Amino acid sequence: MAQAYEAQRERLLPCVHCGFCLPACPTYNRLGDEADSPRGRLHLMGAVVEGRLDPASDAFQTHIDRCLGCRACEPVCPSGVEYGALLELARATATEARPPGVLTRGLLALMGRPLLRKPFLLSGRILRATGLAALATRVIPSRGPLASVRLALAMLDATRPWSPEAAEGRRTSESRAVPRRDRALSPGDAPPNRGRVGVMLGCVQAGLYSRVNEATVRTLEANGYEVVTVAGQDCCGALHAHAGRLDGARALAENNIVAFERAGVDFIAANAAGCGAAMKDYDVLFEADAAMSARAAASSERVRDVTELLASAGPRPGAEVRLSVAYDHPCHLLHAQGVSGPPISVLEAVPGVEVRVIVDADECCGGAGIYGLTHPDLGARIGGDKVAAVRAASAQVACTANPGCMMQIGAGLRLEGSSQAVVHPVEVLDESYRRAGFYH
Ligand code: SF4
Ligand code: SF4
Repeated sequence: MAQAYEAQRERLLPCVHCGFCLPACPTYNRLGDEADSPRGRLHLMGAVVEGRLDPASDAFQTHIDRCLGCRACEPVCPSGVEYGALLELARATATEARPPGVLTRGLLALMGRPLLRKPFLLSGRILRATGLAALATRVIPSRGPLASVRLALAMLDATRPWSPEAAEGRRTSESRAVPRRDRALSPGDAPPNRGRVGVMLGCVQAGLYSRVNEATVRTLEANGYEVVTVAGQDCCGALHAHAGRLDGARALAENNIVAFERAGVDFIAANAAGCGAAMKDYDVLFEADAAMSARAAASSERVRDVTELLASAGPRPGAEVRLSVAYDHPCHLLHAQGVSGPPISVLEAVPGVEVRVIVDADECCGGAGIYGLTHPDLGARIGGDKVAAVRAASAQVACTANPGCMMQIGAGLRLEGSSQAVVHPVEVLDESYRRAGFYH
């Protein structure tokens, strides 16, 4: 803990308490309490580091826990305060002083262990495929002890595959040519080799959005990347890091660093903004580890969001998909990685697509892991504003580039009786390529 305190002390120094970060903070904007602002939380962290506040105190526990971890406070800070790294250290301090709740502990235990995670996510897919998740969402009352179960099931139902034809408002007359699951073949005029890529498959992404992983492989190959299978990879560790379980996060990170090193890739493609942000920060996670820091830094250097790779290759145009798309920026892509243009470039490369960036697209959707379950009132307020912005865009589909945000926005839409699909940008590009006959 002394090491964590020292790391915090140094990172807290640049804060000049100017308050420029306050208007960017969703919790401060909703609650109006300085202690729920970035500056207020930094003040609490400083008080703990200096021994003026007990880390087990309600003040520290409540306000650090209530932070979404959206990092909207980082890019607006003129002093360059590394709020994301500070929050992870503060969460480590908080969880050491008082263990997290049963929901958080259960989620970490599941996601960090493939033998538990895979059957859990399989049961989720069964609930989704049988329609039981959708049915339960409709019959469970919105208030009362089962309200959180209703939200969780709505999130699950929101992961159902989309129908591009239905979104466009037309019937499907042709039988859909389903591309090969793992690979896409480019047409004869194969584009140049842009490098060897390993795709980070993720835990939630692999379990509930495998179609996004498949679309990622196909669209990268169609744009000239050599995509290789990376055996031995596992969860990126983001959930552990955000919960303050830094040792658990390091164990998962080291496993991935080794797996991608063995594969000898030029790039690590992440299609979940949360995974990409965590992997780009592996260097920070291992900064005090002499044996691992250089390898972690080299690994972070190779990480790209899939839309960054696609946008740098064009991407090549496919066939028309006549869709209006309401786009929302994932916080861990926009604020944590500083990536805003590439997802929009990917969508705009599809003939027929009209991109409508929603109002306040730079604000968190309230997903933040399981924030909606652990903070039902505040999570519902933040999520409700996001869903209203998506609906106000009057688009045929909603779109964002992170599974947690896709589930959160999709659940909000379903709970309001809307069946609007929420898709990843690569799914739209993939559909365009399928129609263009790029896949065999
Ligand atoms: S974190 Fe940055 S923006 Fe916020 S009060 Fe400190 S110096 Fe100002
Ligand atoms: S991470 Fe988000 S919720 Fe937390 S202090 Fe920063 S802006 Fe506010």
